[in-house]
Amino acid sequence: MSSVVPVSPLRLPSSFNFASDVVDHWAWRDPSQVALYWTDQSLSTTKQLTYSHFSRQSQRIACLFASLGIKQGETAIIIAPRVPEWWETATACLRSGIILCPCTTLLVDKDIEYRLQVSHATAFIGDATSVAKCLKVRATCPNLRTIVQINGTAPPGVTDFHSALNKIPSDARFPVPSSLGPKSPGMIFFTSGTTGPPKMVLHTQTSYPLAHALTGTHWLDLSPGKIYWNLSEQGWAKAAWSWLSTWNCGATIFIHDDRLAFHPRRTLEVLNKFPITTLCAPPTVYRQLVLDETRRFFATEKGQPKALVHCCGAGEPLNESVVRIWKEMTSGIEIFDGYGQTETIVVCANQKVNKVKPGSMGKPLPGVPLTIIDSEGNSVAPGAEGDIAIVVSKTRTDTDFFGFFEGYIDKSTGMIDTKIKTYPNGKIYFVTGDRATRDEDGYFWFVGRADDVINSSGYRIGPFEVESTLKLHPAVVESAVVSSPDPQRDEVVKAFIVLTDSATSKIRASRAAGEALVKELQDFCKQNAAPYKYPRRIEFVDSGFLPKTISGKIKRAELKALERRRYKEAQGA
Ligand code: ATP
Ligand code: MG
Repeated sequence: MSSVVPVSPLRLPSSFNFASDVVDHWAWRDPSQVALYWTDQSLSTTKQLTYSHFSRQSQRIACLFASLGIKQGETAIIIAPRVPEWWETATACLRSGIILCPCTTLLVDKDIEYRLQVSHATAFIGDATSVAKCLKVRATCPNLRTIVQINGTAPPGVTDFHSALNKIPSDARFPVPSSLGPKSPGMIFFTSGTTGPPKMVLHTQTSYPLAHALTGTHWLDLSPGKIYWNLSEQGWAKAAWSWLSTWNCGATIFIHDDRLAFHPRRTLEVLNKFPITTLCAPPTVYRQLVLDETRRFFATEKGQPKALVHCCGAGEPLNESVVRIWKEMTSGIEIFDGYGQTETIVVCANQKVNKVKPGSMGKPLPGVPLTIIDSEGNSVAPGAEGDIAIVVSKTRTDTDFFGFFEGYIDKSTGMIDTKIKTYPNGKIYFVTGDRATRDEDGYFWFVGRADDVINSSGYRIGPFEVESTLKLHPAVVESAVVSSPDPQRDEVVKAFIVLTDSATSKIRASRAAGEALVKELQDFCKQNAAPYKYPRRIEFVDSGFLPKTISGKIKRAELKALERRRYKEAQGA
């Protein structure tokens, strides 16, 4: 019944290298074209670096890495704040076939040790802070041979990036190795760790570096002249989505080297000061941007974006109400929600060619064989819930869609697990682990991660819909909805809710006010969603209570486990 055919309009080329075919290409087309528009923390210093700059620098750095003995096929972990050296060295790795493994600056020593050990990285490239952490664990990472420090004074045994690079001639060239093919390993990412320990995801030289051309074209609507700001920190796959898609489209990445905790007002100040045309932020940021206080600042002259025309969101479900309020605030800019994973490019999104349906993840990108299947591997009918899956052919041939990973690298054996599954009907899929429905127009609607869906008295309830309904209530800042064990219904819907400051003051002042608000929120959910979905249990919590990944995603599995523990304890008592 599915019309999905695993053939992509973006064919796998016989050869491709991101540095030579994308960066050098734009540098050759227009030597003055800006690839990266950078500003420091205080917004006082700016740099506009061209594609020519990255073309030249990445050739020199590739020569430097070769002279340091870092070889094609070896892995280099890179941890640095948002400084231009990050994009220079990352491009050099792709040019020379060194497998790039970006990690977040928020990692502590033992996280770095874990990543160095399981990735078998032979090189570590970092700023002074992360190099200091790396040195503390170096002794237990036997594969690590080379450490390169990009700022400050390098300690003994560490290569000082800038002084070593100064010795490489400014016109040095690094030919792309002939053995580096489109399916050679290119990048390793660790997943966000929302459902368990972060998994190691292997991408090829094309599955991210080239396939993100689709992300940039269809979701971000990028082209030369556009300036794109994505708030993600460098260690996450989403930052690579931005980098690779922007440069594939010949546009400009905007970078604010922000080292402070997120503050909505600062985000608006940046949008006000710089000619940013395109913004991507996670839903949690948009939720803060639409709060009353931020809206008041937005209404002032200093709070107005200078050049913003297109907004996108991804990483978590985006509530319909947030899209609506943002559109009102910005006099018409919608938020284009897009769906993808560390394992994939953006495979489904609201796109310029279609009407945005707030609350939906939009439609599969052109050429992406994305579908929703039942447990037998058949595409489900409109309105029915199933697993989001990518159709795969038996051999993953060159005409297949190639914008998803090779597999997870097993941390102890180093083997690649492709996670590709053959169903009873003979069809083969990569199953994402997320559940959704599709409407008559082909739009996908996120239900939840397969493990987060709640089964109450035979009804299946997706946490996202309940959370979105709660978000419509003015007292709610955010919530996390999980299953809670129940003797009669097996599981019931439980909502952990963070309230606005004024609502919090009210419930703290009187117990009766708290009880009244619980009832009000339950009635509100019954009126605004199917009544069986209302949260039978509600707990008001401080914002710090909700367990989140370093990238800010709610770890519902931990809350679910908490409910189980509490239930067992109550039974034992
Ligand atoms: P882990 O795999 O380690 O548990 P993670 O799945 O959160 O962590 P990521 O690859 O960063 O790691 O996130 C991808 C997941 O984020 C998706 O599988 C999906 O659950 C969620 N997601 C991404 N975009 C959207 C979206 N637009 N709407 C709803 N959920 C989304
Ligand atoms: Mg995942």
